[in-house]
Amino acid sequence: MATPMLIQDIAACDGQDVIIKGWLYNKTHKGKLVFMQVRDGTGIAQCVAFQKDLPPEQFEAARALTQESSIIITGRVRRDERAPGYPGGYEVGVTALEVIHEAEEYPISPKEHGVEFLMDNRHLWLRSSHQWAIIRIRATIIKAIRDWLDDHGYLLVDTPILTPAAGENTTTLFQIDYFGEPAFLAQTGQLYNEANMAAHGKVYCFGPTFRAEKSKTRRHLMEFWMVEPEMAFFSLDDLIAMEQEFIAYIVQTVLTTRRQELTILERDTTRLENIIPPFPRITYTEAVARLQKLAAETTDPELKESLQIEWGDDFGAPHETAIAGMFDKPVFVTHYPVEAKAFYMQPNEEDPGVVNCTDLLAPEGYGEITGGSERISDPALMAERVKTMGISEEAYRWYIDLSRYGSVPHAGFGLGVERMVAWICGLPHIRETIPYPRMLSRKYP
Ligand code: ATP
Ligand code: MG
Repeated sequence: MATPMLIQDIAACDGQDVIIKGWLYNKTHKGKLVFMQVRDGTGIAQCVAFQKDLPPEQFEAARALTQESSIIITGRVRRDERAPGYPGGYEVGVTALEVIHEAEEYPISPKEHGVEFLMDNRHLWLRSSHQWAIIRIRATIIKAIRDWLDDHGYLLVDTPILTPAAGENTTTLFQIDYFGEPAFLAQTGQLYNEANMAAHGKVYCFGPTFRAEKSKTRRHLMEFWMVEPEMAFFSLDDLIAMEQEFIAYIVQTVLTTRRQELTILERDTTRLENIIPPFPRITYTEAVARLQKLAAETTDPELKESLQIEWGDDFGAPHETAIAGMFDKPVFVTHYPVEAKAFYMQPNEEDPGVVNCTDLLAPEGYGEITGGSERISDPALMAERVKTMGISEEAYRWYIDLSRYGSVPHAGFGLGVERMVAWICGLPHIRETIPYPRMLSRKYP
């Protein structure tokens, strides 16, 4: 009796008669043999149909099978170390083939296609092995995020997506009509997180966030997933200590559980193996000095131009890449100027011109992957900041309330899932890190 098998378990089924339900990924034939690469969502297996082993009409069906047709195959698993596939090393000698649906001519063939064409066919492109590998790694990253937080005493508390007021930067908000009143898609769960923190101690929210990013970059999506931990009685040092453990766990989990997928992506994993705490840290002021020195020394006029920066400016992509390039691990950049950051960040005691914040920059030019800070907890300071930043006291009444009832020092950060996926997978552009990317010039499919 043949029993159902998932291709990921093929090694455990050596010598057994199995049933595989899936799709034809690729096919070649040679006289009396048809080699079918069959995928079932968990892997790809080479299934060999030998004319004498099948009823004639089923062998003919195998020969005529079109790419991406859905099929049910019965056959016997045998070890063959040359057999391609994921995991590979085993093939299936086919004894029966049932065609469920014969696919029309498939638009994506193994030949090269342009990115816009592939993006227009994203709903189909997701079946290709590269995309398959990325989405599996993405799932592992999300699971690692949740596992680590759940196992370290953080409670998942959801924050709303439809919000009455802006989180911080009003220029990047998507506005919608809420029964005749304006509402906004959340660009962060941050402020609600602070309320949840006061109820539960250590919390995190995890969901989609929305930013109308008007600039076209390789690192910005309009819709992306962010995890935001927020911790009571945490200082900047506590935050950094926690973040590096958390990030290292995510990277190491992918390395141990998604080797095959990293191989498919041809990711050089030596750089990732090195991602273990402690990570280096420098101040914003030191980073600016290093950038200015680099700009002064370089003989490349384009690089010199792109590295121009004055104290007070926020970093652009070239700055982040240059700073990250000075280290072989992610680097914490701390203490940015007050003006460059959000109103709720805690100013430094000794130098009130900077805030107790930190961005984490990934190596190899993947840019900022987390941004976080100590939050203001002093009610008087909160009132003053709200006033000077021109924030609506009416809209933020509930938030200002938090500092009035048992305020405590606290800190938190946001991590963008897609930036993590891009870095770990080694993808130059963020568009392939999410199944259906929303970009400046694309919301289809
Ligand atoms: P950037 O300077 O790169 O625009 P940011 O300072 O706006 O980032 P935060 O508001 O601190 O970012 O958000 C926290 C994290 O969310 C970032 O570190 C990054 O990982 C991710 N992130 C921010 N904006 C985007 C975006 N448009 N697309 C994908 N991820 C993003
Ligand atoms: Mg931004």
